[in-house]
Amino acid sequence: MIIDAHMHADTRPIENFKDIKMAGVDAVVTCAHDPLEMKKSNVTLEHLNRVVYQEPKRISKHNVKVYAAVGIHPRAIPDDYENVLKELPNYMKEDHVIAVGEIGLNSTAQIEQEVFIKQLQYADENNYNIIVHTPRTDKPTVTKRTIELMDEYINPKQVQLDHIDYSIVDMVIDKEYTLGITVQPEKMSVDDTVKMLDEYGFDKFVLDSDMSSAPSNHMSLPETKHSLEVNGFNKNDIDKVIYKNLVKFHNLKI
Ligand SMILES: [Zn+2]
Repeated sequence: MIIDAHMHADTRPIENFKDIKMAGVDAVVTCAHDPLEMKKSNVTLEHLNRVVYQEPKRISKHNVKVYAAVGIHPRAIPDDYENVLKELPNYMKEDHVIAVGEIGLNSTAQIEQEVFIKQLQYADENNYNIIVHTPRTDKPTVTKRTIELMDEYINPKQVQLDHIDYSIVDMVIDKEYTLGITVQPEKMSVDDTVKMLDEYGFDKFVLDSDMSSAPSNHMSLPETKHSLEVNGFNKNDIDKVIYKNLVKFHNLKI
């Protein structure tokens, strides 16, 4: 059993799901993101409809279970974003919608902070988990601000902070967050991931491919599992990062 903790199914061909299922991936969490410019809320809502209603059906063809996360991505904030916030409860009541995400900051721009705070407040009021982006550019600075806002607005036990790499791991390892390592060509390699887990332990981490239209490796989680196995890590530790920590965090019924 492997569960991919963060990906964007809507950007990937169905063949990828056949491959990953054959390699042991039984479930994925597909997150709302920025596949279009999304200048107006109706475009965002069409995207959320696809994430929540169409993708699970499409991908079940290969017996891969799809969980979803919905929200406003910091790179795709529509002018009338309030309309999206108003609709979030309709998506969140679906059983397979397990978190608000992906949300967060891509920069420290005021509008991004405003929309992030509103989504933190919404998740906090309703006890929802959140899946939080950290950017490629100015990563430590933007992550620091992201943490400040989360400290103020949400219980850290509800947070999956994602795209952890060596530039921010020391800043977050002592927090009560669930930490996502993205095994992707321009983020963490399989070898870096194995090294980080060896150094920082297996208890706090989940793994994801974040596969999207950006350079991605849809087989990165089976490859990481294989590498951990051939490097002699114990099965219980491997299981923690490839599915058990995620099942516990989201309280998934599998
Ligand atoms: Zn993502």
